[in-house]
Amino acid sequence: MPELGKAMFRSFFISKCILVLVFMMAGCSPPEDPINCSSKNWNCTITNSYGAFPDRSVCRAAEVAYPTTEEELIAVVATATKKKRKMKVATRFSHSIPKLVCPDGEDGLLISTKFLNRTLKVDESRMSMSVESGVTLRQLINEAAKAGLALPYAPYWWGLTIGGIMGTGAHGSTLWGLGSSVHDYVLQLRIVTPATPEEGYAKVRILDNSDPNLDAARVSLGVLGVISQVTLRLQPLFKRSITYLTKSDTNLGDQVVSFGNQHEFADLIWYPSQRTVVYRIDDRVSSNISGKGLNDFSGFRSTPSLVLAVLRTTEENQESRGDADGKCTNAKLSISTLRSSAYGLTNDGIAFTRYPVVGYQNRLQASGTCLDSPKDSEMTACPWDRRVKGLFFHQTTFSIGLSKVKEFIGDVQKLIELEPKSMCGVELYNGILMRYVKTSSAYLGKQEDAVDFDITYYRSKDPLTPRLYQDILEEVEQLAMFKYGGLPHWGKNRNVAFLGAINKYKNAGRFFKVKQMFDPLGLFS
Ligand SMILES: Cc1cc2nc3c(=O)[nH]c(=O)nc-3n(C[C@H](O)[C@H](O)[C@H](O)COP(=O)(O)OP(=O)(O)OC[C@H]3O[C@@H](n4cnc5c(N)ncnc54)[C@H](O)[C@@H]3O)c2cc1C
Repeated sequence: MPELGKAMFRSFFISKCILVLVFMMAGCSPPEDPINCSSKNWNCTITNSYGAFPDRSVCRAAEVAYPTTEEELIAVVATATKKKRKMKVATRFSHSIPKLVCPDGEDGLLISTKFLNRTLKVDESRMSMSVESGVTLRQLINEAAKAGLALPYAPYWWGLTIGGIMGTGAHGSTLWGLGSSVHDYVLQLRIVTPATPEEGYAKVRILDNSDPNLDAARVSLGVLGVISQVTLRLQPLFKRSITYLTKSDTNLGDQVVSFGNQHEFADLIWYPSQRTVVYRIDDRVSSNISGKGLNDFSGFRSTPSLVLAVLRTTEENQESRGDADGKCTNAKLSISTLRSSAYGLTNDGIAFTRYPVVGYQNRLQASGTCLDSPKDSEMTACPWDRRVKGLFFHQTTFSIGLSKVKEFIGDVQKLIELEPKSMCGVELYNGILMRYVKTSSAYLGKQEDAVDFDITYYRSKDPLTPRLYQDILEEVEQLAMFKYGGLPHWGKNRNVAFLGAINKYKNAGRFFKVKQMFDPLGLFS
């Protein structure tokens, strides 16, 4: 069989496998706890949800604590402060790629927010909601909706915790209102920090909107203390109308800014090697418009481990053979499968029949059904679950200011002219997701209105094996970070993205002053 024929057969086989098995199997093994201890809560390791930090090292901590109330949390921080012990905050799933969560040295303490997971108050008249920091985005969205309220903009994945979102400045997509970063909707935040012996070695600091220290805590990388509770400003629950429209990417650079201004929840999926871009035309609509639309994004569904193994093995083989054509063929197939399934949108929770998909915000804003489900011995899993042979990838994610984004897109397009197949590997992971973010008052938040580029690509299990078109991917990374002064997403990226990054934040000095005030011994650093 000629190579192209073989590749097409493989793609056809894989897609059939996925379809058959996805329909055959419901449920999924819930993700594993990222913390493993050899004796109860002692002698532990922590990893991220992908099972590998950028440097692939194992992070060790002497102990983990699981406070269940703010009082217990204060006691944990006080005891550790008294002993001058290093601490880090960990979450139920640990979704960040960088090693932010790893305490310094081997005697460190992990403070998990796994059981700080209660909704404390939903105030319908003030349209606000107070939650403990281990509450997931899914819980928050569901609880708010029960009271007829909604978080207007949010990350797309249910599994993030509110504390983790504050840790890295996680966001959705909009250029409207206060922007797409959840931390810009914080009304009040309670954070437990080290304190003097006279104060009992730990204290709760209550930061509200009039307190400039809140701008340090909104995006705090976990180095200021443990956020225990967050109060968010919400809006009355509303409906959205979504249509995906595929076009050529020829004038993407000209369109990108105006498109973001035109549609409240706009985003784009760019397939540079296919020379196409999918515009998400997504606006708020009247609640009188009928529609029970649901978002269950295909990439966040539970997937049979067998399918994941086939996908991974196929990609490993393509990488080892340098089979760019195979990657391009598979990318085309996977893109067309996603497109025909409307990326997981349905008009009524069951089937996709037509655009627009109209539905309530809580059913459309985020998804992640691979989180729920009975244990099934890992027959199914989230696609990146480290316990199975599944997808193993890296992510380069940065934001480029609106004034420079057209030029950056043009530079990437020039690279594609030189190496047309170089982004097929990225397209296997659904291309480059482009989302809108706005200037934030957070000291480590976005410094200007910008487009955030989310690039996902193959990562070898062998640290010494380069990936296909690594040179092009690294060129894009360097253009973004160094030529265009891009800001890294704090929860993603290879280490290179953080080189000199702190100098790109005009209020970094203020952040360090607050850090010195909250944690003078650097126990959380
Ligand atoms: C499938 C997937 C989808 C994603 N989608 C998006 C997206 O749509 N948009 C986006 O912006 N990002 C996205 N991300 C990245 C993710 O948002 C960030 O990495 C996020 O910070 C992870 O949240 P977490 O709750 O897992 O926190 P972790 O990764 O466990 O922690 C992140 C940081 O916050 C600190 N921290 C956590 N809780 C607290 C607390 N209570 N007090 C103080 N510090 C704390 C930790 O110490 C650590 O430094 C995604 C990641 C994955 C895996």
